[in-house]
Amino acid sequence: MTLPDRLPARQLLLGSTGTDVQRLYNYLQRFGYFPNEGLAEYRTWQPAVAAAIADEQSFDETLEQAVRLFQKQSGLVSDGVVGPKTLGLMGRRRCGVPDLVPGEGPQPFVVSGSHWDKSTITYRFENSGSDLQATDAQAAVKAAFQRWSAVVPLTFQEVTTGGDILIGWFSGEHGDGKTNAFDGPSGVLAHCFSPPPGGGSFAGDLHFDEAETWTTDTPASGTDLLTVALHEIGHGIGLDHSADPAAVMYAYYGGIRRELTVDDIAGIRQIYGGKGWAPDWFPLPGKAVFDRDKQQIAAVSRAPGNLDLFVIGFDNHIWSTYWNDRTGWAPDWFPLPGNAVFDRDKQQLAAVSRAPGNLDLFVIGFDNHIWSTYWNDRTGWAPDWFPLPGNAVFDRDKQQLAAVSRAPGNLDLFVIGFDNHIWSTYWNDRTGWAPDWFPLPGNAVFDRDKQQLAAVSRAPGNLDLFVIGFDNHIWSTYWNS
Ligand SMILES: [Zn+2]
Ligand SMILES: [Zn+2]
Repeated sequence: MTLPDRLPARQLLLGSTGTDVQRLYNYLQRFGYFPNEGLAEYRTWQPAVAAAIADEQSFDETLEQAVRLFQKQSGLVSDGVVGPKTLGLMGRRRCGVPDLVPGEGPQPFVVSGSHWDKSTITYRFENSGSDLQATDAQAAVKAAFQRWSAVVPLTFQEVTTGGDILIGWFSGEHGDGKTNAFDGPSGVLAHCFSPPPGGGSFAGDLHFDEAETWTTDTPASGTDLLTVALHEIGHGIGLDHSADPAAVMYAYYGGIRRELTVDDIAGIRQIYGGKGWAPDWFPLPGKAVFDRDKQQIAAVSRAPGNLDLFVIGFDNHIWSTYWNDRTGWAPDWFPLPGNAVFDRDKQQLAAVSRAPGNLDLFVIGFDNHIWSTYWNDRTGWAPDWFPLPGNAVFDRDKQQLAAVSRAPGNLDLFVIGFDNHIWSTYWNDRTGWAPDWFPLPGNAVFDRDKQQLAAVSRAPGNLDLFVIGFDNHIWSTYWNS
């Protein structure tokens, strides 16, 4: 079908009859204004008007209500009369995704209710269409992904097998139902399904109509691919059509529109949040509780998209929980394996990741030596804790340990020693642990009983240390390779 042939050829209003009314009804039903089983794959969609009309060739009050909602959603005067402006809009190129008009009436941005529950989303090109060089077509779609990832904490990654979002150019019926069949030149340009679960078995998938002439030149000699990809990806990450005619998420194509608007950004940030800090703190899941007066938490990231937390629990064993960007937080805390126990009131834990997929923990043990255990993604946790080599001892009740990895395969530990200077030792994957602890250079001294040390590596081969000094200012020193 080509939509223009199927559009009414004359003005229509309440009381009109005939095949032109049937065409109007079919158009509104196709784009989401009446019940339509062919739109079942858009699982979060609901028709704007709950009931079909009694006679599809007679313009009744139900059809008038649908026309008013369509006009409002499209930024037209909502008079229920299908005049030249309404007919003109219906003749324009548009997106194949049905309009979702919320119960409270058309809105600027609308969220579908489905969203990706992970921050890295993969996509794969099934084909690149026939109008453009594959590299040009793919570059336009990638540029569209980048505009969305610039405003929300989502990362899009191209893959060559599998993939969350499958992208391709298709003609006519192409496996996702008769209603989604492409309609030849003009009319529907593309469609994209919501994230799971709303998008069903096609969740996230983006289909372009091969019958359009896709271009990337400016001014556009055909249909601008980046403009349409930007709109469709908005569906693929959870937005429905906006009633703001200036928005990228407006259903109708109006020429090149390659940048997100305030409305689009507000919509997507309602789903995924912005880039910066979260608006407030929130409690982690699980029933485990700890003593806020004495217990202390250590946090580390073992690989991109992962967080691991550790506390000495009320049973004096080390407890842990974790988060990753695919599954979120673990349901509750759990104790680490091994028999070693520590003093939850006074002892303190340091955690570090020496390389992706590795975790290392350190505590000043009851013998005042430093004890350690480790995890890696091949063998899991070590069977139990073990003391580090060397004769140096520290005060397990009062002294505190900082651990950091200055480069993959390196560990560095720091303690304020009995002489109130900072002591250090290190490990690397070629030579193992240093034979003993050593003091850092300099004359600065700190209070080993009360002052506390923080260590970090700002780049491979760099170390930075920080202490609140006797003058209550922060003191720092650094090492670099
Ligand atoms: Zn759309
Ligand atoms: Zn399709």
